[in-house]
Order: sequence, then structure tokens, then C-alpha cells
Amino acid sequence: MNTQTPHLHYRLLPADLSGHRFQITLTIAQPDPEGQVVSLPAWIPGSYLIRDFARQVETLSARSGRRALAVEKLDSQRWRIAPCKGTLVIEYTVYAWDLSVRSAHLDETHGFFNGTSVFLQPHGLEHLPCLLDIRPPEQHSDWSVHTSLPEATGLPGAAVRHGFGLYRAPDYDALIDHPVEMGTPQVITFQAHGAEHELVFTGVIPNLDLSRVAADVRAICEAQIAFFEPESKRAPFLDSAERYVFMTMVTGSDYGGLEHRASTALMASRSDLPVFGDRRQSEGYRTFLGLVSHEYFHTWHVKRIKPAAFAPYDLARENHTRLLWVFEGFTSYYDDLFLVRTGLITEAQYLEMLAKTINQVQTGPGRFKQSIAQSSFDAWTRFYKQDENSPNAIVSYYAKGALAALGLDLTIRQATGNSRSLDDVMALLWQRYGRDFYARDPQARNGLPEAAMPALIQEATGVDVGAAIAAWVEGTADVPLEELLAPQGIRVESKRPEHAAPVLGATTRKQGSDLVLRTVYEQGPAHEAGLSAGDVLVAIDGLRVTADSKLDELLSRYQSGQTVTLHVFRRDELRRFALALAAAPVAVKLSRTE
Ligand code: ZN
Repeated sequence: MNTQTPHLHYRLLPADLSGHRFQITLTIAQPDPEGQVVSLPAWIPGSYLIRDFARQVETLSARSGRRALAVEKLDSQRWRIAPCKGTLVIEYTVYAWDLSVRSAHLDETHGFFNGTSVFLQPHGLEHLPCLLDIRPPEQHSDWSVHTSLPEATGLPGAAVRHGFGLYRAPDYDALIDHPVEMGTPQVITFQAHGAEHELVFTGVIPNLDLSRVAADVRAICEAQIAFFEPESKRAPFLDSAERYVFMTMVTGSDYGGLEHRASTALMASRSDLPVFGDRRQSEGYRTFLGLVSHEYFHTWHVKRIKPAAFAPYDLARENHTRLLWVFEGFTSYYDDLFLVRTGLITEAQYLEMLAKTINQVQTGPGRFKQSIAQSSFDAWTRFYKQDENSPNAIVSYYAKGALAALGLDLTIRQATGNSRSLDDVMALLWQRYGRDFYARDPQARNGLPEAAMPALIQEATGVDVGAAIAAWVEGTADVPLEELLAPQGIRVESKRPEHAAPVLGATTRKQGSDLVLRTVYEQGPAHEAGLSAGDVLVAIDGLRVTADSKLDELLSRYQSGQTVTLHVFRRDELRRFALALAAAPVAVKLSRTE
């Protein structure tokens, strides 16, 4: 394109660092003559919750030439600008003080934003190419810019690599799928099968071993690229960008990630990242590499292979699909699997992580009430809006979805003498829906239909898994891993931990100096005794309980079946309950038989 081609022009300025405000100007050469409607998305793809990003817009005004135009708010997300003949200019400010991967954050140390938080969508003009002029904050000429958004090379004012200036996107959908980090982060680049990757770490991280992280992440990237494209080894993001960017915000205690078509935004804890000169591999670092593996896998699986419900996204409302168990569950299965396939963790460590997932799923009575297909559909109002009763009421399409993926993989391997596997299913999904997703005309970008999985798996492997999907995915049956893992030489043992104290059947949390019941498990001792979430524990058998009490130690003096007296405050009322202690739940351990 050139600057004469019809396009949307956005200018973004980190205007008020201490007040956390971005100032944005959107210029539209040919606005809707009936009055241009603009909006901000209600949600960000990948995070299935209505967030109403428009609520962070503080001021919004519009003009054409020197003439101010009336602005009318139509609903929670949309504005309509009065009709005008010439070029429409909309100026607005966005408050950016949410330290998460989902919105925007700005202060004296850095700026981060997702397009869904800052770029107005001009209705009817979403197909136009976009130019984005990222301006530097006045006080910080030393800041650099990190994004997978391509520079508008060839145009006057184009950014040079890592610089401020003009960037480009083919349409609005692309513009909001390349988050931007700016500041003075620690950066390292590497090539994976010839494609450029960049690791960006924001935050105070003394002696970070950047080259170790780069070597390990590179191994994951190369393995996944070769997995999906064994012949060409072509990285998936080259259809949209010249590089893939991992942007990580590092704090004392955060964890999370959000996938995009050519980048990912991550949150990690400082203590999970390796210190220069220390070659040990901590559990925290394995967790970080698992997160990297998870988000990178999404580059294929959910950013290109998508549920039909997401092709295209409707940014104004919830997009329901019963398939998140495929997109998040399979991704959760493959994330750790790629760590063991690349040799970054041992098989024993992998089996330990798998056992943890199995135990996590088995603690929740909610898995007998909700299937992972239902959990996918209701993600917006249930999985993303969890409360103290969630373990009793819902199941995770991530954790049980990963077990279903494992169960399907083992079923296929057993039925085909290990000649076919879930890998063949991923290959067919990629070939049919993903590989040329962004190469197609936007109207022709289709996704995986809701009911397609059983037939697709049969096509890819020759194995009919219809009954398994009906039971584990559409129904609430546990995945029978003990019998499925045995032929692969993996033994599943369910054992009560030795010397484990009996339990109350509830989890607790600290609240000031008090210890409070968090979740009361359905049909557990606390539930049977009449206790409730939110009850403040005062004493067990006359012994005082505080936030610092070690309940395990206290309860280890008792046998399961013995009755203890619990004093609790419910609101400001002191109440007394007799509770029959239960044995600690059994936990699963996995080991190789030979
Ligand atoms: Zn995910």
C-alpha cells in the first residue's frame, strides 16, 4: 500500500505515564456518511470473559477539519459520530493500569497494550488496511518497541526494527492481534528453522540467564514447527509477520499467558527464571517452559485451526463453542509432552506432572455434574467466573481436556499397534483448517464445526472413538487411564499418602489473622457436619486456630472416623459443629513397569 490507498490511520502516544493514559487518534478518510459507528471489543480472543474494554475510555471527541462533531453513546461498547463530509478524526484517551496479559499497562518503566484495549473498531471499515504510528513518550527517548506487527517499510515515517514510527496491518482483525511492549527490556533473538524469534523480558530480573532460556525455547519452537510441517519446516506465523515475539512481564508472583497469531504475552515469576551460572532446573523453570510451549502451540491450534464459532470472532458478545476441550485441552496435553519430546525434562518428571493433573481432576466432585463439552460452552460464565463452590460444580476443560487428549491418544495407539496417534489428528486439523487460514479471503476462513471431531479422528487414524468422546467429553465419565496406560508400560497406582493426616473435607485460606474455609467439598466431612465456605475457624477440640495454625499437624493426632468439635464464627455468630474426620484422599502415582 501507499499512504494514498484507503486505510485506517491510528496514532498512539503514551501521553501520561504517571497517570497511565494512552492518547489515541483515529483518522478515517471516508467515514460512513450516515454517521460512523465505532466500538471497542467486549472481550479479547483467547480469554473468554466479557471485559467491556470501552469502560477504560475516559474522553472521546470527534472532528472533521475544524468542525467538532457530536458523539452519541449507543450502548456499553459503541459510539456514533455525527455525519460529516470530509475526513473524520477521533481523539480519545484510554486508562491503562491493568498488569495482566489481557489489556494495557503504562507507567514510567514501560508500556504494554493489546489492540483490543486501545484501537476503536470502525464498523463497516474493518476490512481496510491499517497504519499505526507509535509515538515515543516525551521523557523516554531510550525506549524501544517490541511487537510482531510488521513495520510499514517503504512508507515515509516507517519504523525501523525496534523503533517508534509507522507499523502496518492488513485489517482490523490483524491490528488487534499483535500486542506491543515498549520500554527498556532484556531481549535476545534466535532462529528456529530459519524463522526469527525474539524473547522480551520486562521487569527487574537480576542476572537472568537469557541465552539458556533462548536455547531451551528454541528447542521447543523447532520441535513444534517440525511437528506440524515435517517437510517444509515453515513457521506458521510467516503468513502474518516476519518474527515471533514472546513478551514476558516478570513480577514477584504472577503466571499466565495469552496467545496471538505471531506473538504471545506472558506473565512469569522472577523465581521461575534461571540465574546466570546456575545450571540446576527448578520446578518453576519447568513451569515457565510449559507455559511457553503451551502458548506457542496455540500459534497453530486456536489461532489458525479454530472452532467455527471463532471464524470470525464476534467481538461484541460471548462466542459459544463446545470445543474448548479440543483447543485448550489438546494444547495442555501437548505443552508438557513437547518438553519431554525435546529432552528438556525426563520421562520420570513428565509422569510426575501428568500424575499432578490426574490428581487435580480427581479432587473435584464437579466433574460428575458438568462435562468438558458443557464446561467449554459455559466458559464465559462459569470457568472464568469461579467462586468457592466451583470445584463442586464445574470441571476444567484444560485439565480434564488434557486427560481426554491422552485417553484418545492411547486409544488410537492401542487400536493401531502404535502406527497412528493423536499426532495424525493434529496433522489433519492443520491441513484442513489451519495451514492456509490467513491466506484465504476473510469470508472464506472457516473453522472446525462443533460436531466434527469423532469423524475427523476416524478419518485421520481409522479408529472410531465415538463412544469414548460420548463418555469422557459429552458425558462425565472419568478417562480410564489405568487400563489405557498399562499397554504402554505405565503403571497407575492409587495410594493414600503414608502418614497423611485425616482431613476436614475443605480447603482453607488466610484472612488477616484468621483461617477461613474456602471450598467445602460436597459430601465431605465439613459438608456433612454443616460447615460452610466463609466460616472462620476458631478452635478444633478446644485448641485455638489462627491463620498460622498448621491444621495437618493438629489433625495428625487423630484417626479418620474420630469426631472433633469445631468452633467457627459465621458472620459474628459463634457456632459449634461435630465433625467426623475422613481419611486423606488417595493420590495417583505413575511409574514405568519395565
Ligand atoms: Zn491455552
